[in-house]
Amino acid sequence: MTCEESAPEVLPISSTESDCSTCRQLRLEGLGASTFRVAPADGGGWHAWSAALLRLFARMGSGPTRAVIISQPIVNDRYVQAQVGHGIAHAEVGSNVYLPEDSRLSADHESLLAALGWLPPRSDTDDPDEMPANWYLPLINGDWAYLTEMFMAVMIGFLGFDERFEVVISSFQCANPCRACSWPADISPSAAT
Ligand SMILES: [Zn+2]
Repeated sequence: MTCEESAPEVLPISSTESDCSTCRQLRLEGLGASTFRVAPADGGGWHAWSAALLRLFARMGSGPTRAVIISQPIVNDRYVQAQVGHGIAHAEVGSNVYLPEDSRLSADHESLLAALGWLPPRSDTDDPDEMPANWYLPLINGDWAYLTEMFMAVMIGFLGFDERFEVVISSFQCANPCRACSWPADISPSAAT
């Protein structure tokens, strides 16, 4: 599970898997980076905005693995992010390992994350060779509505996202986008596409 990126503290680059011929082919065919900026209040509020996010996940969810980062930089530096592809998603909420002082999560925030089913960071420091030390969910098996709901609950519920301002959704293809390089081999075959 590796991703290459320039945006926030995202998923580390893997050098060991970069020679995968399937990944090379997918990279040649793949879509580049894209960014959407929409203030929910300008387009029907959070309800319509979340419906659009669900459509985005459903559209990209069966393709080569991509990273999606959602933030509202005008409000704070908090973010949620996911790797999505081949019918599988790994979702994260940025933790205090990466957040600057004025955007750090409080103990109450962290209790709410845990209550919703988010798992705490595996480490209290960043290791570039491991997955980011963020709050995360168990791998999601094609349930894009659940992924969307879990993000919306966090963003609106307590990260402080404000519908009056632009929300930025950045998306880019992972450096290793094939299924074998993206996901553990022991994931249920029903999730594969
Ligand atoms: Zn590969």
